[in-house]
Amino acid sequence: MRFSTNLILQLLIINASCHAQLDTKKDSIVVDKVNSYLETYEENNDKSNSKGTVGNGTLENGKLVPFSGPNFNYFDTTSYVSSRAFVNDKVRTAMLNTYKQLQITSPERHFCIMECSHEHGGKLSPHRTHQNGLSVDFMTPLLKDGVPYYGLDNLGAQHYLLDFDENGKYTKDPSIAIDFDAMALHILTLNEEAKKIGLEIEKVLFKIELKDELYCKPKGRALYDCGIYFAQKLTPLINGLHDDHYHVDFKLIPCFATF
Ligand SMILES: [Zn+2]
Repeated sequence: MRFSTNLILQLLIINASCHAQLDTKKDSIVVDKVNSYLETYEENNDKSNSKGTVGNGTLENGKLVPFSGPNFNYFDTTSYVSSRAFVNDKVRTAMLNTYKQLQITSPERHFCIMECSHEHGGKLSPHRTHQNGLSVDFMTPLLKDGVPYYGLDNLGAQHYLLDFDENGKYTKDPSIAIDFDAMALHILTLNEEAKKIGLEIEKVLFKIELKDELYCKPKGRALYDCGIYFAQKLTPLINGLHDDHYHVDFKLIPCFATF
């Protein structure tokens, strides 16, 4: 059967319009779910208290990270409404100040936050850490053919299963690759903003084989020079998981004075 060009064009337009309607419907479901969740959540003004360790701890007065902002969003609605996006108040402040700063230094870039902690901390399955509001997963920014790319950002929890080779290329499509410079700039800014409020980055988990790629970029070099600690050795399972995202553990600086 032969189709005329006009018919094919019409079908494409109808198809695109259906997709647009579906996207709009999906977006409104997400907004409804998030809004319903936010209606049930009331934040107090008390300071957070991160008890114990990231691997065995709890969180008092945890603060919810916003679902979205001008240049960032949380990666998964189900995770968000399941109370998995809580952090220590200082961590939230550092994260939000970082995104504000990145609006100036990297205005073309959008960033994604992945899982954080439960409202009261404790075990956040399947993570081994994320227990006291001082751990956050950040989605690795991507490029496609050298241009910022967001086509894999809306996979939800499945995003954790994406695989990248040791050069940072997506195994299913090598035209998609990790944007190491954007990642390094994010971590550098996060560290600067954390230090301003009595917090510091204690450790970053990122696939060992990708660190050379990260450090050889201009911003990566600055990251190396400023001495932020990246895990030197990871089990094969943990190593394999930390390519689509990088995990950051923060540490509170004792006796930090605020004036
Ligand atoms: Zn993590």
